[in-house]
Amino acid sequence: MPTFSELGPGIRRLVAPNPSMMTGPGTNTYLFGGSEVAVLDPGPVIESHIETLQQIAGAPIRWILVTHTHPDHSPAAVELAAATGAELLGMPAPEGRHQDATFKADRNLNDGDLLETDEFVIEAVHTPGHASNHLCYRHIERNWLFTGDHVIDGSTVVIDPPDGNMKHYLQSLQHVKDLECSALAPGHGEIINDPARAIDWIIDHRLERETKVVDVLAANPNLTTRELVPHVYKEVNKKLYGWAERSLLAHLLKLEDDGAAKRAAERWVYAK
Ligand SMILES: [Zn+2]
Repeated sequence: MPTFSELGPGIRRLVAPNPSMMTGPGTNTYLFGGSEVAVLDPGPVIESHIETLQQIAGAPIRWILVTHTHPDHSPAAVELAAATGAELLGMPAPEGRHQDATFKADRNLNDGDLLETDEFVIEAVHTPGHASNHLCYRHIERNWLFTGDHVIDGSTVVIDPPDGNMKHYLQSLQHVKDLECSALAPGHGEIINDPARAIDWIIDHRLERETKVVDVLAANPNLTTRELVPHVYKEVNKKLYGWAERSLLAHLLKLEDDGAAKRAAERWVYAK
């Protein structure tokens, strides 16, 4: 029997075998309940993982929840639903690249919607930023928040515009902090036991980067996003410049929205 982790009464975790630089040890798939089971983020389509989920569930899988429709989180949902008859819950996939267009929810969730079962209640918390359709899920009895890619353990997530939005991301981080959950269960990595501290660290990290962007912009007017990357991300390996450019664009678009940056013909200037 493959190993899964028992995280608490009625909460189990199985890590999908898709480790990589972007996914850490792999995507965390969570199972809730004992007599009827809800599966959260079944991951990419990996047959062994889909089979293992059904084996360890030990009871009918009635619901499949997804945090968002990036390729490492939702694609197995369709196959698992077909095999089990489970109801699919989540937010529809937006248009654009890096989206799992196969995901079609049976029940579209909005902020505050509940999945109520005999054993547990899960609340959807809309957290746009990493993805516009990103939901975190609060396990009401435990007061744990299952954070998908909104907050992950051990690193920061990519904010890739236009679906990724830095301004929304920072607002959603504050929203999650205000929930005062007792732990965060991320889509990648281990349980985070001090949510406020972890979230403050992420917000500080993003705002430090934003300050750096402002300084670079003020000193180097009329560069393109790509030309700004080496100035802002001096410490980053050149191999990662593609992702750095996406993150930088997210910062610049936020500054533009805040009235602190302007662009003409894709060249940026400081605007204060
Ligand atoms: Zn993602």
